[in-house]
Amino acid sequence: MSSAPQGLSMTIDGAPAPADRWIDVRNPATGEVFAQAPAASAADLDRAVAAAGRAFPGWAATPVAERKAALQRASGIIKAHADELADLFVQEQGRPLPGAKAEILGAAMWMAATTLLDIPVEVTEDSATRRIEVHHVPLGVVCGIVPWNFPVLLAVWKIAPALLAGNTLVLKPSPFTPLTTLRIGELIHGCFPPGVFNILSGGDELGPLMTAHKGFAKISFTGSTATGRRVMESAAKDLKRITLELGGNDAAIVLPDVDVDAVADQLFEGAFHNTAQVCVATKRLYIHEDIYDRLRDRLHRLAKETPVGDGAQQGVRYGPVQNEPQYRRVRDLLADARAGGLTLLEGGPVPDTGYFIPLTLVDNPPEDSRVVVEEAFGPVLPLLKWSDLDDVIARANDTEYGLAGAVWSADVSKALEVAHRLDTGTVWINQNLQSTPFTPLAGAKQSGFGQENGLAGLMEFTRPKSIFIPKDSAA
Ligand code: NAD
Repeated sequence: MSSAPQGLSMTIDGAPAPADRWIDVRNPATGEVFAQAPAASAADLDRAVAAAGRAFPGWAATPVAERKAALQRASGIIKAHADELADLFVQEQGRPLPGAKAEILGAAMWMAATTLLDIPVEVTEDSATRRIEVHHVPLGVVCGIVPWNFPVLLAVWKIAPALLAGNTLVLKPSPFTPLTTLRIGELIHGCFPPGVFNILSGGDELGPLMTAHKGFAKISFTGSTATGRRVMESAAKDLKRITLELGGNDAAIVLPDVDVDAVADQLFEGAFHNTAQVCVATKRLYIHEDIYDRLRDRLHRLAKETPVGDGAQQGVRYGPVQNEPQYRRVRDLLADARAGGLTLLEGGPVPDTGYFIPLTLVDNPPEDSRVVVEEAFGPVLPLLKWSDLDDVIARANDTEYGLAGAVWSADVSKALEVAHRLDTGTVWINQNLQSTPFTPLAGAKQSGFGQENGLAGLMEFTRPKSIFIPKDSAA
């Protein structure tokens, strides 16, 4: 295990930026401060936005093949430093090392794969008198704001399309997980001209300062629905473009024909991966009454057997909850469930340091209990019994969220019928937690606004520009 990092820098205008204020960064497995990160001032933000503004015309005019090559170089550097970055990731985020490394390598892959996308020029008319071309041009300086659950991958989901489309970027990691992102900035900023790629870290005040800053043309935000509303409100003042990837309360519907033994592991992982801190995790598991008891008992056994602990230790599958406020929120939800007389099926023991919470199933709670209605974003999974398919689809859709959902059945065509009736941006059949660089992730209802990934996600970093070109014959 590596020691605490010393003096990681923000990146402004292609160079490490000095800081005179710092925020503490805690290791969630111990709850203790192990490092500090720079706290950007309003002047730092102005400098970063000004640098990005100066860099924009040159970067937008750079041939797209060169922009792609720069991203490919950056991807290679991240991949080459995967071990170092994964060590740092475990310390600040808490996830066990294999999962940490998988995120770093996945982010590097994503950055390279995004360069396979091409922004089309549409031709809407090509007649005897004129040709009309719709180009998709970059927006300007983009602000990227990232949460703590997948700090590196979700940063790359902004870096790659924003820069590929010809924008310049100021990126802000979460105050809970700034370090790996800052280190990536130190490693890759040389791949781009000065000012193209800037990273600022800081405390709670920095996000609102950024969304209010007049220099940004767009805010690309990933985080909670509550914060997303604040971002939208702030962006409305000068009509900044926005993409909001927000919270979810995803339902998985398990039909009675599944092989319980075969699906239990996947259902468990789909709910508890990254200690259940996944926007698209299964957060409500609807199980048909015929198999309810058997699947519940199987999942409970998995919860008891699965090792939870410090991600730096070998053999641990899930780590702690990532930060103290989140830990308190999840504990509060559990206390409310206990006070309401709900049956909690607890997993095995967890360390008594840091922010650990046992993996917990809730046995068939009422549909209107907080543990069902709210996004826990922690290791608490309500299991809900159903008997009528129309009714369970209505229950699954009865939420303000609409991020993703899953259907499990031995009969794929039947599952597909259910998939079409789920009111979400993504539906998985007999799988979960899947996404690709070529497939949009777009929340329905209050799970989001706009989309990330795929050509549609890339186009969110552009605006259409229609050019009417006369033909010689019309002159
Ligand atoms: P959060 O909303 O608290 O914070 C997200 C980011 O916004 C952080 O960088 C934070 O510093 C910043 N921020 C906080 N207040 C702000 C403000 N007023 N203005 C601008 N920025 C502000 O979310 P979180 O707790 O870090 O992340 C967990 C949430 O993110 C969950 O709800 C989860 O479902 C969601 N999420 C969604 C996706 C997706 O793709 N849809 C992916 C991952 C996480």
